[in-house]
Amino acid sequence: MNFETLDMDVNLILDKHFSEGRGGKPVGFVGIHYNAGNLTVEGCYSVWQTREASAHIQVESSGRSGQLVWDRDTAWALGNFDKNQRSINIEHANMADGTITEQALDVGAHIVAGYCILYGLGRPEWGVNVIPHKAISPTSCPGEIYGSQKEAYIQRAQYWYDMMTGAIQPEPEPEPEPVTPLPDVLKRFVDLDPDSWYIAPIEECVREGYINGYDHEHFGPSNPLTRAQGVVVIANASREDLTDYLEPFEDVAPGPYYYTALCWAVDKGIVSEQDNFRPDDAATRAEFACMLHNWRGNPAPAGEPTGYPDWAEVPDWAKDAMAWAVEKGVIGGSDGKLLPNSACSRAEAAAMLANLL
Ligand SMILES: [Zn+2]
Repeated sequence: MNFETLDMDVNLILDKHFSEGRGGKPVGFVGIHYNAGNLTVEGCYSVWQTREASAHIQVESSGRSGQLVWDRDTAWALGNFDKNQRSINIEHANMADGTITEQALDVGAHIVAGYCILYGLGRPEWGVNVIPHKAISPTSCPGEIYGSQKEAYIQRAQYWYDMMTGAIQPEPEPEPEPVTPLPDVLKRFVDLDPDSWYIAPIEECVREGYINGYDHEHFGPSNPLTRAQGVVVIANASREDLTDYLEPFEDVAPGPYYYTALCWAVDKGIVSEQDNFRPDDAATRAEFACMLHNWRGNPAPAGEPTGYPDWAEVPDWAKDAMAWAVEKGVIGGSDGKLLPNSACSRAEAAAMLANLL
């Protein structure tokens, strides 16, 4: 139904037992009734075929509403013709104990609010613009609506009146929880722990094309980064055209996947030409830090980091690089340790690169 236009769920207009028009009198209140039974709209229609009574509206226990007498006409509801002419009358189906259901209470009170607005009667108040049948003639009607449910009913009518007049605003819909899209790497790689710290840096490095998986399904986050992979990762991150740097390389014959990256890296001083490159060896954390440090042009660190108990284990050749990496936040301590000589895992490499960039 529509509580503003007061179009009910169903119209089932009586052809008897009401009076046309209102004798020129204005509507001044809403009369409240109960069925003294649990009737439907059709049930009321049937009863009022023989009984010389009527009301404008019936509200069923389900909350379904029906119009039986048009608002412009006079229903025979209150046992007082003058009062009938001056009122809209609403019937409510009730349970055996005289109470009405929550649905009937809500819809009935909402309809009361709608009529109070429609006829300019003001905010619903018992005895002012909302009148129980028993206040006009001797009857038990409207049962518990004007008994145990008296306050609940009028408060609901006032609530709807306030809502409909804009005196109170409906609670804003809570903002939906933002749905974090599944990182692409989790859709692709089957060997990543979705709750791990490394998801974000790996997501970034894969998205940017710095690091690829071994194949379409495996990233190997805990596997050591080989020195060859370290060079390729940095070459990818440089976004340079590596083919400009192809030249004969003494230790490594052309052919491996990392060959162009290695030529570039040697030219850039990222790895030394004099090194025995050991492409398949695991890069230590210190070695990968050195590669990154060299790539960045060997900036001088401000000083030695403090608070790392294993700083003394950092090889001399890596001290500047490790100090710089700590200073730039490229390398985080692992449980407060730098672990410079431990193999750098592929996940750690992704994190270091992501931190640097
Ligand atoms: Zn009544």
